[in-house]
Parts: sequence; structure tokens; C-alpha cells
Amino acid sequence: MTGGEGAAALPERLGDVLMQRLDALAAISEDEGALTRRFATPEHRAAIELIGAWMQAAGMATHLDDAGTLVGRYEGESPDAPTLIMGSHQDTVRNGGKYDGMLGIVVPIACVQALHDAGRRLPLAIEVVAFGDEEGTRFQTTLFGSKALAGTFDMGVLARRDDDGVTVEQALRDLGLSPERIPDIARRPEDIRGFLEVHIEQGPVLEAEGLPLGIVTAIAGCSRLTVTVEGEAGHAGTVPMDRRRDALACAAEAITTIERHCRDAGDLVGTVGRLQAQPGAINVIPGRVTFTIDLRAPDDARRTTARDEITAKLNAIGNARGLCVTVEPVYEIGASRCDDGLQTALAEAITQEGGTPRHLFSGAGHDAMAMADLCPTAMLFVRCAGGISHNPRESIMAEDAAMAAKVLLRTLGSLS
Ligand SMILES: [Zn+2]
Repeated sequence: MTGGEGAAALPERLGDVLMQRLDALAAISEDEGALTRRFATPEHRAAIELIGAWMQAAGMATHLDDAGTLVGRYEGESPDAPTLIMGSHQDTVRNGGKYDGMLGIVVPIACVQALHDAGRRLPLAIEVVAFGDEEGTRFQTTLFGSKALAGTFDMGVLARRDDDGVTVEQALRDLGLSPERIPDIARRPEDIRGFLEVHIEQGPVLEAEGLPLGIVTAIAGCSRLTVTVEGEAGHAGTVPMDRRRDALACAAEAITTIERHCRDAGDLVGTVGRLQAQPGAINVIPGRVTFTIDLRAPDDARRTTARDEITAKLNAIGNARGLCVTVEPVYEIGASRCDDGLQTALAEAITQEGGTPRHLFSGAGHDAMAMADLCPTAMLFVRCAGGISHNPRESIMAEDAAMAAKVLLRTLGSLS
């Protein structure tokens, strides 16, 4: 098929159809009046039933794998066709939004529905997945289903407990699953053509530029550091300003330096999210301050260079003030690059739909990050109002969701 013919098969009021499905999913919640749907809960089960019915109506065979991922499969032209996987997560944070995750499930189902309605098969088999747990709200277990597919799942996670003392293992058994068989659901890289994830941007860039869609270049890597500033506590009234070794004033200079460094670098974001000053009294010069740094960039060299440069700058600030500044790395994860070929396919599809391809990186983690250990990945971002997510005010436009489906269907038609 060609992408153009496929696009014509999408329903006219596609945006409304997608928004109605997202509303129906959002109605399945643990909390009255707010959207909370955690992993392996009765609400998860109810969401699977609804999504599974949509998949079956679109001609897909469905099954729930032992990691709680609902998989819908639409066979290709031949039984040995490689498989393209598309999808995202069904779970939410507490009091979350309707679109984070779910958009990436309903959009590819609409594309398969269009193929099914037209009686078309592609050179690829298609699977749409609804991962059970990406957010980790219940067990602090992120990317649960995608790691299982990628074969990087840590079985030790099964022993974790939720706030009620229920283990992951028990929760999966309660869903009728066999967690000991999770290693068996890992896919073979040679069978998988790629993974495509549609997701709300969760940032303000597309909206600011008036663009409905963006193509993700990479999911940012992250360096986390803990900084300790050792000064000297003293009386707020008696120690003259030129004799002070004020750890908090030093930290303040350090923090604005971090902000400037990241702002000037481009494709680098840095955040000081936690700070503690001791002794923490209104009439005492702070003697000791600890704070955190979270640095993210789509390029690993850029991030690690920034980490080292910032560390040097903070040490210099400490030296100039006669204070001891210690910077300790506590966490490192590399960036996950999206596949160039899949990015090009998305860009061409956007152009054919009359749009402007805009490439941007993702500062947030996604299932695509775990899937990158298995196969080439790509992500299509959809504009969201104010860049707000993980919040009931999360909002998208129906026409943007429809545009995402059109672009995805064209992309499917161009891949082999
Ligand atoms: Zn998400």
C-alpha cells in the first residue's frame, strides 16, 4: 500500500473518535473525581478489557502477557514478516491526566482499524501494546512491561511491595498471570523491525512554535549529583560580613552558576530540586548546605562535559569564598538515541500531511528508552496545552491527535 491510500481510510471525525476513547479510558479510575490507575489493580484489568475490545474490533488478536502488557497483533502479508511494535502505557500517576500514555495506545489502534477496514496487510506484522506500568506509581517499578519485552527485566523487582504490603508477584498472580514466566516474553531482536511511541510532549516547545507534532531525536540521559558546602555556622548578629563563611550564600552563587551554564549550553537542562541548610535557624549563619543537581541532555558527551565543567565551577566558587565544596555523582543514565531511519520516515509523513517536521529531544523518560535495548525506536510527540502533564489539567486538541494518527498511518505504509 501507499501511505496516501491508508490515510484516506481513517474516519472523517477521527479526532472526536480518539478523544471519546481517551475519555472512556479516563473514566476508569481508582479515585472518584480524579484519574488514578495503577498497575495490576482492578482498574488496570477494566482498562485492558476496554482496550482489548477496541483492538479486536480492529482485527487484532489479543493476549495479556505475564508482565501485564496487553498485546494486540495484526498479521502482515506473510507469516514470517518482521514485527513493528507501537504503543505506550495505560497506567497513570496519582491524580494524573488523560493523555500521558493512553494517547500512544488509541492512536495506533485507529491506524490498524483503518488497515483492517480497508482489508490491507503490510509487509510488517503490527503489534499494539498497552504497557501495564511505566510510571511506577504503585511499586516504584518503572518501565515494567517494556523491560520485559526487551529482555532487561530484573526479576528482583517482583519482591517489591506496595503501601499495603502486596508484592509485585502477588499482584500479577491476582491478575491471573505467571510472573515466573516473564523471562519467556522477551522478544528476539531479529524479529522486531522497531518500536514507535506516540506521546504527549509534556513540555511547551511545540505549543510555543505553533506545531502539532514533533519528532524525538533522543530521550535525554541524566546525571544526578549531590553537592555539600561546608562553611561555618555563626551568630547572625555578631559576625561581620567580611568574616563569614556562609554556606548558603555560597550555594546560592553555585545554583545561579548552574542555571547560567545550562542556559548558555543549549540542549542541556539542569535543576537544583532539593536544598537543605543547617542549622536552619533565622538567627544563625548557615554552616552546612547540601543540594542536588539533575542534569539532562540528548547527547552523552554534552552531558558529561557539562557535569565536569559545573563541578569545576562549583569548586572554584568554594575556593574563592574559603569554603569546602564537594560534588558527588549519585546516578548516571545514558541518552537513548532514536533511530535515524524511523525519524526520517516520520518527518516525510509529516511533510506529506502538510506539516513541518520539528525535531526535539525528550527530557522525560519513556517506554521507548527500554525498548531501545531491543530494536530501533522512534517517538512522535503531540503538542499539549502549556506543556502540563502528570496533572488533571493535561490537555490536547482533537485535531492534533488526528494528525498524529494520519502521520503514523503514512509512516506504517512507508516502512518495510
Ligand atoms: Zn508517559
